[in-house]
Amino acid sequence: MTPRGAIYPGSFDPVTFGHLDVISRATQLFDLVIVAVATGEGKHPLFTVEERIRMLEESTANNPAVEVVSLDGLLVDFARDRGIFTVIRGLRAVSDFEFEFQMALMNRKLEPRLETVFLTPKEDYTYLSSRIVKEVARLGGDVSPFVPPSATRGLRTKLE
Ligand code: ADP
Repeated sequence: MTPRGAIYPGSFDPVTFGHLDVISRATQLFDLVIVAVATGEGKHPLFTVEERIRMLEESTANNPAVEVVSLDGLLVDFARDRGIFTVIRGLRAVSDFEFEFQMALMNRKLEPRLETVFLTPKEDYTYLSSRIVKEVARLGGDVSPFVPPSATRGLRTKLE
């Protein structure tokens, strides 16, 4: 059988246990999961793409089915370049649905071969977002229950 790959795009600013849960679920379903870190200038990320990639690489180092790359430009162009037409997205709650639904349909309009697969994290992680973690870190809270050690260190350095 030909190996099956999937792309998991996002900002990962920074990676949380929610993202890692989705990644590990995805690798149960696919032979290769490419975590594509969007440069996302418009979103004014706290971390540079290189920093976000490094934190992801460190926290997925034990999983050989994961590759972390940067994503500059349209997801559909990246999908065509790699010849991989399955996209993974995480759904935490109903509030994620509208945006995710729009994105999935837009991507399919741009590239009809593209299929989006939604994965739901363990319920302990449904409240987790990079945004809320950054807020807690900014206010001096302990973020180690929510993000891997690479991101705890990254947040400490960035916000000191
Ligand atoms: P984006 O800026 O593209 O939304 P994120 O890094 O915030 O990037 O999220 C990437 C993907 O991971 C999105 O599909 C998002 O819904 C999902 N995600 C984020 N946090 C979690 C979580 N705690 N559990 C499950 N999925 C999540």
